[in-house]
Amino acid sequence: MIEFSTHLRSKLPRAQTTIFTKMSTLANEYNAINLSQGFPNFDVAPELISLVSKAMNNGENQYAPMQGIFELRQELSLAFKRFYGQHYDANEEITITSGATQAIYSAITTVINDGDEAIIIEPAFDIYIPGIKINGGIPRIYKLKGDDYHVDWYELRRLFTSRTKLIIINSPHNPTSTILSKDDLQKLEAITKGTDIIVLSDEVYEHIVFDGAKHQSVAAFPELAKRSFVIGSFGKTFHVTGWKTGFCMAPKKLMNEFRKIHQNVVFAGNRPMQVALAKYMNNAENYVHIHQMYEQKRNYFLKLMKNSRFTPLPSKGTYFQLFKYDRISDEKELDFAIRLIKEYGVASIPLSYFYSDKTDNKVLRFCFAKTDETLKKAAEILCKI
Ligand code: GLN
Repeated sequence: MIEFSTHLRSKLPRAQTTIFTKMSTLANEYNAINLSQGFPNFDVAPELISLVSKAMNNGENQYAPMQGIFELRQELSLAFKRFYGQHYDANEEITITSGATQAIYSAITTVINDGDEAIIIEPAFDIYIPGIKINGGIPRIYKLKGDDYHVDWYELRRLFTSRTKLIIINSPHNPTSTILSKDDLQKLEAITKGTDIIVLSDEVYEHIVFDGAKHQSVAAFPELAKRSFVIGSFGKTFHVTGWKTGFCMAPKKLMNEFRKIHQNVVFAGNRPMQVALAKYMNNAENYVHIHQMYEQKRNYFLKLMKNSRFTPLPSKGTYFQLFKYDRISDEKELDFAIRLIKEYGVASIPLSYFYSDKTDNKVLRFCFAKTDETLKKAAEILCKI
């Protein structure tokens, strides 16, 4: 180890390694079934893999354009027109990123200057607040209400000040698995009307919505689309989280500023994956039904867990299922989650990690993007607790 002798003022003095890395590491260490970090453990479509190999063999190995390859932007443009009725110009309004995380960070950086305020709805995915703080911004927290984790938009509006620059929304929602309704988005449209507030809409689970519900994208609400960044993820839709390929869409003026940041963070995303994804996405049949597969998995997992002492909360989208464990233990979420790994061999994520005040309601998040065999093994263990 090299001794470091200079003083460094940390940008995030209290930040620790993310809970996803921590729990996955612990799961590996104890050889536990890993339902913590959200990623599929089943195979990627062989066709998609072979398209990547072909791209590499065809010499698609040098930089992609800064904006991402045109064909993939074009596919996204067509998809957004088809699903949400909104036209995004492939040249000016769409950028391919190195995963949704980079897109979100770059969008936050585009908007937030020193002292600006951003509204975060908690529980919230763990990268929003650090992104705001790194840029000198101030997060203003709104907590979701009730067991159904809903937003009272008029109450949320009370957090608006003259310094509010950004509001981050996320539907389907990680970690609660709730979805925003048309009424929610109409209310958001109403409360932001006449303000300069920009909306960052994290929609990475856009194709994973259950029980016949329809994903409500900000793209489908013209007044919201005018002030919004929409963030998406190929990793979630095509079961390739390790490819770290996502996208950002926004009106030209916003996108121009976004690209100034993006090109200085990564310059461009990786090329062969983009080439393959463009070809694969061209056939919508390759992904429009993934909600059925995940709905089956959710139902299967819930059925297996029926006789357990864990109480499920409704999962309306994403590939996560929340369970309350208050009938089993009154331990804190992190303690219980660690004990589940060490003593029982099943890893989950404590919900308290998605709250800045570590609100602890005895709820754990389990990822069901797993083979039926894995879900069965995990449920067998959980049912004995
Ligand atoms: N989005 C995934 C989750 O919520 C993985 C996040 C990560 O590891 N950064 O589990």
